Amino acid sequence: MVKATNLGFPYVGSQRQTKKLVESFWSGKISGDELKASILEIQQSHWKLQKEQGLEHIPSGEFTLYDRVLDTAQQFGAIPQRYQHLSPLDQFFAMGRGLQRAATETTEKVDVPAMEMKKWFDTNYHFIVPEFERDQEFTLQAPRAVEQFKAAKALGIHTRPVLVGPVTFLHLGKPGKGVDAFDTLSLLPKLLPKYIELLKQLEEAGADWVQIDEPILILDLKDDVKAALESAYKAIKGQTSLKTLVAAYFGRVENNVLAIKDHVDALHLDLVRAPEELDTVLPLLNKDQVLSVGVVDGRNIWINNLETSIALVQKAVAALGQDRVFVAPSCSLSHSPFSTSFESKIKDKNPELFSWLSFSVEKCAEINVITKAVNGEDVKAQLAANAAAVATRRTSPQTVNPQVRDRVAKIPTEAWKRPSPFATRREAQVKKLKLPLFPTTTIGSFPQTKEIRVARQQFTKGTLSQADYDAYIKAQMKEMVEAQEKLDIDVLVHGEPERNDMVEHFGHLLHGYDFTQNGWVVSYGSRCVKPPVIFGDVSRRQPMTIDEIVYAQSLTKRPMKGMLTGPVTMMKWSFVRDDIPANDLCAQVGLALRDEVVDLEAAGIPCIQVDEPAIREGLPIRRADWNAYLEWSVGCFRLSTSGVRDDTQIHTHMCYSDFNDIFDAIAAMDADVITIENSKSDEKLLKIFESKEYTNEIGPGLYDIHSPRVPSVEEMKQRFADMLKYIPAHLLWANPDCGLKSRQWPETNAALANMVEVAKHFRAQH
Ligand code: GLN
Ligand code: ZN
Repeated sequence: MVKATNLGFPYVGSQRQTKKLVESFWSGKISGDELKASILEIQQSHWKLQKEQGLEHIPSGEFTLYDRVLDTAQQFGAIPQRYQHLSPLDQFFAMGRGLQRAATETTEKVDVPAMEMKKWFDTNYHFIVPEFERDQEFTLQAPRAVEQFKAAKALGIHTRPVLVGPVTFLHLGKPGKGVDAFDTLSLLPKLLPKYIELLKQLEEAGADWVQIDEPILILDLKDDVKAALESAYKAIKGQTSLKTLVAAYFGRVENNVLAIKDHVDALHLDLVRAPEELDTVLPLLNKDQVLSVGVVDGRNIWINNLETSIALVQKAVAALGQDRVFVAPSCSLSHSPFSTSFESKIKDKNPELFSWLSFSVEKCAEINVITKAVNGEDVKAQLAANAAAVATRRTSPQTVNPQVRDRVAKIPTEAWKRPSPFATRREAQVKKLKLPLFPTTTIGSFPQTKEIRVARQQFTKGTLSQADYDAYIKAQMKEMVEAQEKLDIDVLVHGEPERNDMVEHFGHLLHGYDFTQNGWVVSYGSRCVKPPVIFGDVSRRQPMTIDEIVYAQSLTKRPMKGMLTGPVTMMKWSFVRDDIPANDLCAQVGLALRDEVVDLEAAGIPCIQVDEPAIREGLPIRRADWNAYLEWSVGCFRLSTSGVRDDTQIHTHMCYSDFNDIFDAIAAMDADVITIENSKSDEKLLKIFESKEYTNEIGPGLYDIHSPRVPSVEEMKQRFADMLKYIPAHLLWANPDCGLKSRQWPETNAALANMVEVAKHFRAQH
């Protein structure tokens, strides 16, 4: 029979219990033993829940207190020297988040920084990057997979242990601090025996299947990586009798699959991202090999189209037979929120939208229904309910706004770019703005003080009236404008006191968005985010920022910069609908923003910044897909910003400086001024701008805003002098790296005063 299976469950818990417990441990409120005991209860409830949902292969070993890759590093003894003296639990969290502890009578002072964190493929999750010595030795210590397998077994639940694959683990790692570059895959012969030892322990504990995650299978892989994959799985097959399921997800495996396909018992494919691979992989399978078909989206919040999924699974069954097919989510469900059962607000206010939502628990149920359907069981009622919800979603006025659709279909060619070239615009802007050389500005937000947050909370709770809240925000803007005038900044901002978040704030002002109460997903460690939901066609409810910006402008003669979040970032940091193409949705958001930009101009605002910090992180995993993505994402940015006159200055901002490979796209955004993060990077970034003919104005950040440290005038002078080596003086701006909302006022004032002094110093010299 076809089996209902899962690859991973949201370990953070239904109410983020894991996060809360871990944080209690950090703050010393509970002991390590209490932490472990409570965590075990959560694990048990998750296993039971999945069993109740009808799953046959239930994952274990993927439950982590911080990060699965970090678990893997610790249990194989890949522990950098600086953490080695710590006890296991302290060591684990110290590697993940650093540890500072004063000396006591019996212990020495500890002060170690965290290991590096990186994005997990194209998700918003971040993993801890393993560090290896050139002569790294591996040991096997207290493997989580064995421990969790046994714990589930004690409950009477037979699970499928999940491991981070050896090749993915090494490939994602890097040489440790101070270690000369070397190929981390060269450590595979040393790591493999320990992996095999682990597999044997699982076998002894009673496991039959094991899931080994090798998501690197979806990358553009060089031959040596493929060779490492092949040798790893040959060795594993030769030396254990556990059945191995190797899982790839987040994309297509293409011919990378050839490296392992003869050495595994089962293969998992992400058919949500790459449905076409069913046809290409089916003929490659050997007799007896199982295919795990990932048909339920593990990264989103929408109901599955059961009919479509069943058809895909049936195709696999027709080719392989019932015993050689597993039904699965596309990837671990840890990338989805826990359950829609906590969304009472949406359920009450918008039952139709509620009927379109499916979080992890509901996804398990979907997997179960699909499995039953292909096994010939009667699930007519469930299928009918699903078909009805899928149908209303397709046609509901909540998802389809004919005016918006029509507008997107008829976007005139000229709306995709500014009417005049930069040189012409610049002339008009110079004349109108009369800015000094090296104009100073900030990126948008000023400190979100506790007082501001309290006021917002009171307003949301209803204890502060709309009128009082508005007055409060106005007073804040006034203070912020005055502070900037006092600092003698040239292009001012309103300071964003009214915004809790750069995406959610606008979500509330647009049609097509809603917000969950409990739709949390882990971003890294114990940190969770609750992205807004884009469920329908997007358009403005009403002007979104005009009142604030116009008020701020009324307080000063200096140019005020309007402040918006760009279309790509509005999408990337939300749960987006999956029922229309991403580029169409982006154009809808782009048009809504375009209206706002045009209104700002009409209201007399001379500069408008449209932030796009997420353009880079949206890059597809495969190079072959980059151009198509960059074309529509950059296009939609231009769509949002090109409705204005030549003399209106369009700014954009990015929080990163890694432009090497997308320089042309950044240039194609054609913003009049771009501000970027720079202070932490070296001159590499500036060199790119020099070598590549960038014609527009640019403000590489003069100081890091992530720390309260106040950079000295001398330090920033040095940086500015470096910038001048690469960027023509008339194009250079002076600004910090990013927004200042996480800072306090004293350091903000001090740092900005120094920054303005630096700009003035260089002005006097030119
Ligand atoms: N305008 C935003 C701010 O200043 C930009 C934030 C960002 O780039 N992430 O906070
Ligand atoms: Zn930024």
